Amino acid sequence: MSTSTSTITEEKKQELEQIEIWKCKEADCKAWVRKEFVTEAQPSCPLCKNPMIRSYKHVPVATKKGNKKFLMGKRRF
Ligand SMILES: [Zn+2]
Repeated sequence: MSTSTSTITEEKKQELEQIEIWKCKEADCKAWVRKEFVTEAQPSCPLCKNPMIRSYKHVPVATKKGNKKFLMGKRRF
């Protein structure tokens, strides 16, 4: 007795989204960080301490599943 499940998930296509980042001015340095994680007006590279410049990057969109989780534990008092 064999059950053949031929279900092909259609979520294979990887969509990209453009995000704002800070990236290291040094071409050899691969350091970059999401702009939303940076609070400084002019951050410096955590690796080589060079100034960072504003740029854009394409990253895969996080797949949304029906399961919503709380990212922040908000408490109501
Ligand atoms: Zn750097």
